[in-house]
Amino acid sequence: MSGVMFERIAILGLGLLGSSLAHAVRRGGLAGTVAGFARSPETRARAAELGFCDQVCETAEDAVKGADLVVLAAPVGAFGALAQAIAPVLAPGAIVTDVGSVKTAVVRDVSPHIPDGVHFVPGHPIAGTEQSGPDSGFAELFDGRWCILTPIGASEDDATHLAERDEVEKLAAFWRACGSDVDFMDPHHHDLVLAITSHLPHLIAYNIVGTAADLETVTQSDVIKYSAGGFRDFTRIAASDPTMWRDIFLNNREAVLEMLGRFAEDLSALQRAIRWGDGDALFTLFSRTRDIRRGIIDAGQDSAVPDFGRHAKPSQDD
Ligand code: NAP
Repeated sequence: MSGVMFERIAILGLGLLGSSLAHAVRRGGLAGTVAGFARSPETRARAAELGFCDQVCETAEDAVKGADLVVLAAPVGAFGALAQAIAPVLAPGAIVTDVGSVKTAVVRDVSPHIPDGVHFVPGHPIAGTEQSGPDSGFAELFDGRWCILTPIGASEDDATHLAERDEVEKLAAFWRACGSDVDFMDPHHHDLVLAITSHLPHLIAYNIVGTAADLETVTQSDVIKYSAGGFRDFTRIAASDPTMWRDIFLNNREAVLEMLGRFAEDLSALQRAIRWGDGDALFTLFSRTRDIRRGIIDAGQDSAVPDFGRHAKPSQDD
């Protein structure tokens, strides 16, 4: 799982995802040089101190010059401007990819800036934690996690066909060398799947923690004191980076609203079952959901350790 695959990799954004990728690249010896760029001088200084990049550059253009792989790793709302800035210096034959949590909007914002002869292959590693910033990264983040590539122009039928293109195969091999399993989807399907598996759960967590915070004055901090009763797990998710999640909801609006509609209907059904004392309906649902949890553990995507999520490092937050 090692050997140089790219001469120069430019990583634009050096938070959790960008720094973890740099660590994973270094672990596998996958690049001749890793050049990083972050927006603020503070993050650049910290990244230089931590040393996970060979070079920390003051501009995205400097990082990208001569790179044969460019990875956008900032919040998705910043991708369009970043792509526009680097377009003039992209090397012919280079692969541009990203780690953004939504795909249709990223394709919309980035594709128009990609020059002829440069390959844009969107991607999304389904790996994360609620931490952010350059200190939060670690090489193992992607180990055993899925990375979804959404080659452009793909429909559900031709995603496999597009996966055979050289640049897509090379990027897939790269993610495998970083520890991931690789899957292919079209961007729209990706956004629907992630809306229910990731975006809606985060929205629910933000909402329940917000509601409880408003109640807190009434209950004299009982919310914090008795948080182990389920609430604590929501607060972990609701501690995720506000900028990143604002951008996800603004850029996956349709899919999230669709899933939210379904969720609201199902919640009403639960409300009715509780109101009418329909224990069978509650029991049937709770049994089905427990089976789903078991399926996730059987698939190796989570651990059955009783207090998982408080001590384990990598998680499947995104
Ligand atoms: P993060 O830890 O908050 O890091 C974001 C990085 O992007 C920082 O280096 C930040 O620079 C930079 N940045 C912020 N705004 C920018 C702008 N307008 N222009 C240029 N750079 C900017 O975030 P992250 O968790 O690594 O997320 C990065 C991307 O990965 C997002 O697109 C997210 O959707 C995706 N993703 C996240 C997860 C997850 O669980 N966190 C999982 C999978 C994918 P400064 O520090 O200088 O502000």
